[in-house]
Amino acid sequence: MTELTETLELKLVEPNAHKHRKLCETKQVYQNALQAAFNANCATQTEANNVVVNYNLSGYAKNALKKYVPQLCGGSYDANELHDDHPVRFTNEGPKLDHKPQNAIEWYIKIPHHDDYNLWLPAQPDPEQQEWLEALYAGDAKMGECRLFGRDGKWYLHVVATRDVEERPSSASETPIGVDIGEASLLTVCHRDERGTPATPNLWNDEGKRVRQLRETYFTATRRLQQRGSERIVESYGDSLWRQIDDILHTVTSEVVAYADQFENPVLVLEDLTHIRENMDYGAFMNRRLHGWGFAKLHAQIRYKATENGIRVETANPAYTSKTCHCCEELGYRPDQATFTCSNSECWVSEYHADINAALNIADCYLSGESHSREHTDGDDSAEEGGRLTGPQDSQADAETQQVTLGAYAS
Ligand SMILES: [Zn+2]
Repeated sequence: MTELTETLELKLVEPNAHKHRKLCETKQVYQNALQAAFNANCATQTEANNVVVNYNLSGYAKNALKKYVPQLCGGSYDANELHDDHPVRFTNEGPKLDHKPQNAIEWYIKIPHHDDYNLWLPAQPDPEQQEWLEALYAGDAKMGECRLFGRDGKWYLHVVATRDVEERPSSASETPIGVDIGEASLLTVCHRDERGTPATPNLWNDEGKRVRQLRETYFTATRRLQQRGSERIVESYGDSLWRQIDDILHTVTSEVVAYADQFENPVLVLEDLTHIRENMDYGAFMNRRLHGWGFAKLHAQIRYKATENGIRVETANPAYTSKTCHCCEELGYRPDQATFTCSNSECWVSEYHADINAALNIADCYLSGESHSREHTDGDDSAEEGGRLTGPQDSQADAETQQVTLGAYAS
């Protein structure tokens, strides 16, 4: 078991004037308390406590100061370095993370202002760090100290997060497992056995159906409720439906990792999100955004759970995964959602399960070297794309949904 640590950066999305003022206040009071405790040369937590207790700060900021100041005073810290842009530190119990995937800005963070008063703010994470947020939100990673600071007129929160991961020895023979995310089956996995024959495919059809139902229920119901102006109900109802969807995704992603775990030196091969967009026929605008949401979320969950179990994850860049024959590599077509038909008369594949065919193509991309691990990707890679698919600029409908939520979080 190894512990991974990462500092997650969350950009607080355009706090309104009121919240901006509160953040400035927190920063100023914190700075004053820090200066006073430093000037008093507090070498112990008790001494620091006696000074900071008088300041109108949250207990989490005070506790962080009690730990921090004795370190400064005990060390060879230069007082001149006690500059104005010191971040406001909070102990880990203070800030809280919330997730509302139905909104354009999905993540929310609670910043303690002072006792009994907190600020909820929408927060934009680094798309590369989405797997960490998923892990934190699911309780599979631990939050450490948090630091609030301003930079170029914007506010950020740095969250130190840790999680335990397994290390497994790698062996010569790898088992690439193609992971296809689709409509009919939420997820399909397949690999080839040592003779190259497609083996043990697994599909999550019922889960796909259930997610579609919940999504439809959400849109029908919220539209109706919004027309009636019942925005509070929209929010709580929406939250409960999306929690159910999230539960399904967690079940499925855990099962995918368990599936991979049974093979020798497994490598989970995910499709690049850019290509998913090219490969799929999208319906309405909102639908497209939700596909983006689902893909990004499934990917993030698979990534962190695989890492947790010492299983590698690679991204493949296949073009036309759903339209290429896994056997002869000719282009075929899909007469319906579930079926792939090969147009090569020489090929033994006439009709094949479309999702399994796609999963095999994805796995084969890894073998043919058309894949890359995340570390080697450039700025235009899948994660970036995933972030964009669910970005705030996506639609008017999103902006409206977000208004509703911002309303409920306004303090
Ligand atoms: Zn074929």
